[in-house]
Amino acid sequence: NTQVLLAARPSEKPVPSDFRVVETAIPEPAEGEVLLKILYLSLDPYMRGRMNAGRSYAKPVEIGAVMEGGTVARVLRSRHPDFSDGDFVLSHSGWQSYALSRGTDLRKLDPAAAPLSTALGILGMPGFTAYAGLLTIGKPLPGETVVVAAASGAVGSAVGQIARIKGARAVGIAGGADKCAFVRDTLGFDAVIDHRAPDFAEQLAAACPKGIDVYFENVGGHVWDAVFPLLNDFARVPVCGLIAHYNQPAGAQAGSDRLPGVMREVLSRSLLIRGFIQREFADQRPLFYQEMAGWIKSGEVRYREDIVDGLENAPEAFIGLLDGRNFGKLVIRVAAE
Ligand code: NDP
Repeated sequence: NTQVLLAARPSEKPVPSDFRVVETAIPEPAEGEVLLKILYLSLDPYMRGRMNAGRSYAKPVEIGAVMEGGTVARVLRSRHPDFSDGDFVLSHSGWQSYALSRGTDLRKLDPAAAPLSTALGILGMPGFTAYAGLLTIGKPLPGETVVVAAASGAVGSAVGQIARIKGARAVGIAGGADKCAFVRDTLGFDAVIDHRAPDFAEQLAAACPKGIDVYFENVGGHVWDAVFPLLNDFARVPVCGLIAHYNQPAGAQAGSDRLPGVMREVLSRSLLIRGFIQREFADQRPLFYQEMAGWIKSGEVRYREDIVDGLENAPEAFIGLLDGRNFGKLVIRVAAE
């Protein structure tokens, strides 16, 4: 059983030596358990937070423990009444090639309904994050302008496409010409801006002539700085992620205290800034699966996956995710289907 363990806590950017790849025996399922063979492992930005000490909204991974993560697996051997050998399931088995489960954390997947890897992306946690955050907090209205960064990625790509389905204008922000072309031409956003352009802020303002009504916050940093002056009265800001800051040491402060200025604008422009963790909206999941499957079928929602072969390549791929080196939902193919 190949496992990737957390070897050290990174101070800023993770490095390969923060991980350790080990070989252990394949575990035996006890009565009431299933043995899972992992096929796909999802790599997600939240994993950077789990590498830090100290509790955030979830507990950290302990040093020497298997890195946490969502997975798609095949039941290799079932000693559980609800599962048969050969069933495909969504599990949370982490960075390893085999795992045991007592069944409570498993959801059966139908490989005929959708490619199995989509259960980690557009039809999984990231797609649901986009759906729930945008519709529950962002509440885009027809004709409004919705802006989202990391727009070619797992969450952002869905945010813009759902915004368009609801009749809003979608403006994406992405890093580099290839990602921008994909967001505009394949995903069908109304406009896209490269955040690495020297005149990024001016280009964003020009792409939002009526201001911004919904800003779905995925990154923070210089993107937030460019967006903030453009927010209209009564704009809604679902705060989903701040990936530009994940590699910064806890408590790091850039420059002077800007909070009073931000709060003054929150007050005078009646802004709604609301953080969320997708699981708080769990009751919306059944409707999400139904609606998103329909949008994919009708072609209204498209998605892109960035599939990397081999669990041993997970550390490098994860380090790249925090630097924007992924192009689409990042998934490790741990074993062939
Ligand atoms: P993506 O597939 O979008 O990959 C991350 C992307 O972030 C990179 O490809 C890069 O895109 C962009 N990025 C990285 N660093 C920067 C930076 N400094 N400035 C601007 N962009 C940057 O990841 P996900 O879709 O999985 O996640 C997107 C966000 O959603 C993350 O912040 C994540 O933490 C958050 N999230 C929150 C959840 C919640 O429940 N609140 C659940 C799931 C995700 P580019 O090259 O285009 O800049």
